[in-house]
Amino acid sequence: MEATPAAATGGEDCCVKVAVHVRPLIADEKLQGCKDCVTVVTGKPQVQIGSHSFTFDHVYGSTGSPSSAMFGECVASLVDGLFQGYNATVLAYGQTGSGKTYTMGTGFKDGYQGGIIPQVMSVLFDKIETLKHQSEFQLHVSFIEILKEEVRDLLDPSFLSKPETANGHAGKVTVPGKPPIQIRETSNGVITLAGSTEVSVTSLKEMAACLEQGSLSRATGSTNMNNQSSRSHAIFTITLEQMRKLNSTSEISANDTMNEEYLCAKLHLVDLAGSERAKRTGSDGLRFKEGVHINKGLLALGNVISALGDEKKRKEGAHVPYRDSKLTRLLQDSLGGNSRTVMIACISPADINAEETLNTLKYANRARNIQNKPVVNR
Ligand code: ADP
Ligand code: MG
Repeated sequence: MEATPAAATGGEDCCVKVAVHVRPLIADEKLQGCKDCVTVVTGKPQVQIGSHSFTFDHVYGSTGSPSSAMFGECVASLVDGLFQGYNATVLAYGQTGSGKTYTMGTGFKDGYQGGIIPQVMSVLFDKIETLKHQSEFQLHVSFIEILKEEVRDLLDPSFLSKPETANGHAGKVTVPGKPPIQIRETSNGVITLAGSTEVSVTSLKEMAACLEQGSLSRATGSTNMNNQSSRSHAIFTITLEQMRKLNSTSEISANDTMNEEYLCAKLHLVDLAGSERAKRTGSDGLRFKEGVHINKGLLALGNVISALGDEKKRKEGAHVPYRDSKLTRLLQDSLGGNSRTVMIACISPADINAEETLNTLKYANRARNIQNKPVVNR
């Protein structure tokens, strides 16, 4: 008999864990004379801005080694859960420039190595190494982005990445005639992506190459806020298939044949689009439309998380609006139920971003209510 993991019994690892990552003031903000307006309370997972105070599961400031603490406290148990067959999702939320890509490690500038995804990869392969005598493993990776409610395959070699053009528009084009990627649901509720590349990987190096390739293909465009502004949700998904040999004396059947157990689980690592409202990008009509679509995914995500958090309604079988956006539809089998979810709200400490920082903290606070624990907001 398999041990029942905590998630299946509603243990503390189920539902949504919410952490805040406060990045330091960056050079550009210092040049503008910005002041730090965010306080991380010592010894408590609490963050203060103006007269507002929020408590989360964890708060990481810019001192110590926040990324390794974050990995250990928020993500390591999700990687362990994969080996027990549990799907999981890690979401980085926040305005453009708040540190989502740095935190997740979906970029190639500073911070990439310490990001969550490289740490997940390293722990995953270490664990496979220690378990290889009792199980056979297969790993697959996909890397997609959702832009304007369209799913795009970042690992598709027919995506041509060109350097950003002078007018600031990303120079990425698709090969004409390629059918769009479809999100499908199997009869047993498994969400699949029809038409996207799934790469089978056998080493850390191969998996890191997928992360690199997809990160380079990722659509970027300029806005007033940040010339590397991410207007899309980027989702790096690791699927772990496991054939576990049940070979202890008691597990061997009478005729001495080897029993096997098959487990499959996936981990979505999501670098969400910037949460700032479209009007702040101050761009043309086209860009505004993208902003509206981005907000659709983030809005739907907020609604799904709230619906999941209302335990009473959930028990009554209340509707969870996964179908309201491509983002939530794609994450449907890995958000809620027995899945484990971590949301990392990324914030800038700069006073010029105070309004968006407060919005991010409010959104994250709403997600935290999912645990039905009292939220201290004094
Ligand atoms: P986002 O993906 O939310 O738009 P980025 O991850 O690109 O934001 O971060 C914006 C800038 O801030 C980058 O120059 C990045 O290197 C820097 N930065 C983000 N987080 C940190 C951090 N924790 N420590 C130091 N610099 C950071
Ligand atoms: Mg980014």
